[in-house]
Amino acid sequence: MNPYLKPVPRRNKYTLRDYFEGIKNGDITLLSQAVTLIESTHPEHRQLAQEIIELCLPYSGQSVRIGFTGIPGAGKSTTIDTLGMYLIHKGHRIAVLAIDPSSERSKGSILGDKTRMEALSREKNVFIRPSPTSGSLGGVARQTREAIILCEAAGFDTIFVETVGVGQSETAVHSMVDFFLYIQLAGTGDDLQGIKRGIMELADGFIINKADGDNLTKARIAAANLRSVLHLFPPAASGWTPKVLTCSGLYAQGIDELWEMINDYITLTKENGFFIRKRTEQAKYWMYESIQNKLHDIFFRHPEVTALLPVLEQKVLSNQLSPFVAATQALTPFYIHLPPFSSLRKETDFFLSSRNVLPFGKRQID
Ligand code: GDP
Repeated sequence: MNPYLKPVPRRNKYTLRDYFEGIKNGDITLLSQAVTLIESTHPEHRQLAQEIIELCLPYSGQSVRIGFTGIPGAGKSTTIDTLGMYLIHKGHRIAVLAIDPSSERSKGSILGDKTRMEALSREKNVFIRPSPTSGSLGGVARQTREAIILCEAAGFDTIFVETVGVGQSETAVHSMVDFFLYIQLAGTGDDLQGIKRGIMELADGFIINKADGDNLTKARIAAANLRSVLHLFPPAASGWTPKVLTCSGLYAQGIDELWEMINDYITLTKENGFFIRKRTEQAKYWMYESIQNKLHDIFFRHPEVTALLPVLEQKVLSNQLSPFVAATQALTPFYIHLPPFSSLRKETDFFLSSRNVLPFGKRQID
């Protein structure tokens, strides 16, 4: 029986120690349950999840984390499936996570859709988890990042993080992986879109996928074009020059070269210190990201704020109040805790003084 399809035990059935020991022993059911706690909206589940993460943290960090992006249909799941199987045969343990807050597809269906990662989902040394679906991109990304820690503590040495190349999610994935792979297709103009959206600077490697059959020549030309564009870019801080390969995820062609490219990158950046520097930077990024998320939560869950917001919104819509003054008023429950003579407090007092709370565009000038 597929271990991922076992009935899910009731939450909180296990103690903190059960989760920790289970994860450390590579128990996929407990790992899966712990990730569910990470994704839960119940405060006590989140609290337990944080405690599990804290315990697991010293056992994490040992994997290679690889991000995959590309437009839907580019062949991300097929490539992950093929590369994953290739690595399984080399003795690796693979975890596949996803960040796709926008998509209906992500509602648990990485497993449901049999065409996706068909081979990998039958393997017992593999953990596949669809994207968390609730909340903002920031929240979803945080949950995925926390899931990485648990997967590493559970002994998965290669973590794949998949995202759909249609928005901000690339930046989020980039901030949690060591190597970022951009999967493209020949002749879709996708290569040029990539340049526009600045993904070029994020990607450490590119593959032109579906380089098989009639498509082979087109794929080679697209790869050559992309290489010539890449030459125009300034050298990356990693000391690595991004590479472009042709690949066929479906027919398992170019997979050796793909893995070699990733390994070359990891070896180089471990030698020159960039690997650890990047991880440290990422940890810092996530600290500030978490602060912002927490502040966001504290603000939007504050009862005074939730009562005030619809009123203020209405005033803004009917042009009675400027958006900036409305925002300041919404923050009043927090401003009162600022020291009276701080510059932020003075600024707020000014904003909230009656003459400034006039209809937008009708401010009095004495
Ligand atoms: P994703 O949306 O990026 O995850 O794309 P999928 O991996 O689901 O692939 C989309 C479609 O392209 C599927 O029908 C795949 O069978 C097909 N496909 C994926 N990789 C290749 C490839 O290397 N060659 C060919 N010919 N088809 C492929």
